[in-house]
Amino acid sequence: MKTGRFSIEQLSEGFFELFKDGSFIKMDPSRLDDLETDPSLGVYSSAIGIDPVLISDGEFNVVVDPGLGWGLDHSSSYKNTSNIITNLDIFGLRPQDIDFVILTHLHFDHAAGCTFVNADSETSLTFPNAKYLVRQDEWEFAVHQQITKSDITPGAGYKLDEFYKIAAENRFEFITHDEIEVINGIKMIKSAGHTPGHQIVKIESGGDTAYILGDLIPTEYHLNHYAMKLIDYDQIQAKKFKTLLLKQALKEDARLYFYHSLFNKTGRLAKDRHRNYVLVDEKRKF
Ligand SMILES: [Zn+2]
Repeated sequence: MKTGRFSIEQLSEGFFELFKDGSFIKMDPSRLDDLETDPSLGVYSSAIGIDPVLISDGEFNVVVDPGLGWGLDHSSSYKNTSNIITNLDIFGLRPQDIDFVILTHLHFDHAAGCTFVNADSETSLTFPNAKYLVRQDEWEFAVHQQITKSDITPGAGYKLDEFYKIAAENRFEFITHDEIEVINGIKMIKSAGHTPGHQIVKIESGGDTAYILGDLIPTEYHLNHYAMKLIDYDQIQAKKFKTLLLKQALKEDARLYFYHSLFNKTGRLAKDRHRNYVLVDEKRKF
């Protein structure tokens, strides 16, 4: 997809079943046909997609949320799983071509792909030349949760072990401003709620706008439903920011990208006759 001078691609890692204890298994996509009637889904687990994003303008390459990282580790038993490296290869890019990695937050289903364990059991950075951009308040919260073992969120939480290496090598750039431009046309905006230091990405170029939403609005289903009660750290703030963002995105006719969608992973907003948000594909004519 194009937004002005940027091309924006979703690098799908596939479909997964996420259990309440935070474990994942890869899902056979044919199960998606029977989601409604599958007795285990919804009670013990939920079905989710994982879609990191690549933004390129020919000069800079930016990855937003590098995913689960399955198959990256030397000893991994998921060698055939599509991951950030195999997906970049489709676009002719190598890990060393990535200039910035933007982390919406540090939950492992978004951030684990930042690192891998090599044949000598050493933690290595997946993108050796990139700056890893994360909010300072997100890092501090995540570390505090790990140290105090107070992360009781069901589902995917923090697993920081390999991240201390990124910190130790000074490869994180800790963001403190609520809004900051990474390169001309790509902004990170604080949208705390899901976690205290969650941020989203706004892309503006050539009169067009796009948002990459992280877990602020994880799927198209969440456009009209607040189904994050158990997993949002600050529900009031999350709801407030989501409401404002949707209004703004409708006004801007912006394209939205969802990280966890099963079916509609991107689209622009419109309202149906019940005043519910729906996704449409093309830019509206004003
Ligand atoms: Zn999350």
